[in-house]
Amino acid sequence: MKVAVLGAGAMGSLYGAHLAKGGQDVWLIDVWQEHVDAINQHGLKIFYDDHFETVEIKATLNPLDIENTMDLILVFVKSYHTGLVLENCIHLIGDKTKLLTLQNGVGNVDILERFVSRTQILAGTTAHGANVRGPGQINHAGKGKTIIGRIDGINTKDEEELASIFHASGLDTELRDRIEGLIWDKLLVNVGINPLTALLLVKNGILLENNETEELIDLLVGEAWEVAKKSNIILSHNDPIGHVKSIAKATGENKSSMLQDILKGRKTEIDFINGAITHKGKEVGVATPYNELITRLIKAKEKVKGIDLKYLEGVF
Ligand code: NAD
Repeated sequence: MKVAVLGAGAMGSLYGAHLAKGGQDVWLIDVWQEHVDAINQHGLKIFYDDHFETVEIKATLNPLDIENTMDLILVFVKSYHTGLVLENCIHLIGDKTKLLTLQNGVGNVDILERFVSRTQILAGTTAHGANVRGPGQINHAGKGKTIIGRIDGINTKDEEELASIFHASGLDTELRDRIEGLIWDKLLVNVGINPLTALLLVKNGILLENNETEELIDLLVGEAWEVAKKSNIILSHNDPIGHVKSIAKATGENKSSMLQDILKGRKTEIDFINGAITHKGKEVGVATPYNELITRLIKAKEKVKGIDLKYLEGVF
């Protein structure tokens, strides 16, 4: 199978390396020169708790280096780069090419639909955790399941084959028919935990230690739940707010991805998380004032550097 991974950061490198080790013909595409050079010269190094491995894999800065259309394109840039990276890689897309997004939040699928038909798009969730250690190096921080499915809900033999290739490559993967509900389950978790931890500069568990923060989870997730209901999205949990709190408890010592972005001075994926709730809310006629406010606060936080966040990162 010919595979292009768009965005060879933490997750793109992790998935690309598994598929390459599993015998697939994989290209990593990224804009980070030092990283691409290091991968081509010394291989990609994946660090685990107590050891590391080196995976030989092709990487490029220039998508035009790749001539053929792909069987699979795995989109693993941050959500705000999805449109741009696809425009640069349009020549890799043929009638039979499948596009898969495992990015966080919602809205990426809408962007993919600008480039291919719905029958070519798969989406899903990943419970793997990874981060970039340096050029050519990533940490595999946590293992978990990958759940994928065609967004039109019609999985065929092609999708079954894709899931089994992932599985055979060491990526524990399950194929699901109704993938949207699952994506929204994860979205609601991000809606409740990410912006609050990023604004308050705290780990997930702290949100359950005060009435004020718990009530903010209720308000944010409550609005998102209303939007899901009005959009006919079937969530897996009868009590989504309780579910979000149980995840905050289970991941109490974790720094959310949005907190990490803020601490590192990077743009966040807020538009695809709380911003997406407000956007969808407008479409289905549900008011989402708390999500709108928190989206604006995070955008302000991205820009306002009041104190030295690098110093604060060391405090955690
Ligand atoms: P990352 O920042 O490590 O990687 C993104 C990569 O995209 C970077 O290497 C960047 O240089 C590259 N990039 C940016 N613009 C590009 C362009 N125009 N063309 C090609 N490459 C470009 O991000 P990540 O942590 O791997 O996250 C990727 C996605 O996966 C996000 O949506 C995130 O929410 C999701 N996700 C991450 C994790 C995790 O543990 N890291 C877990 C679940 C989901």
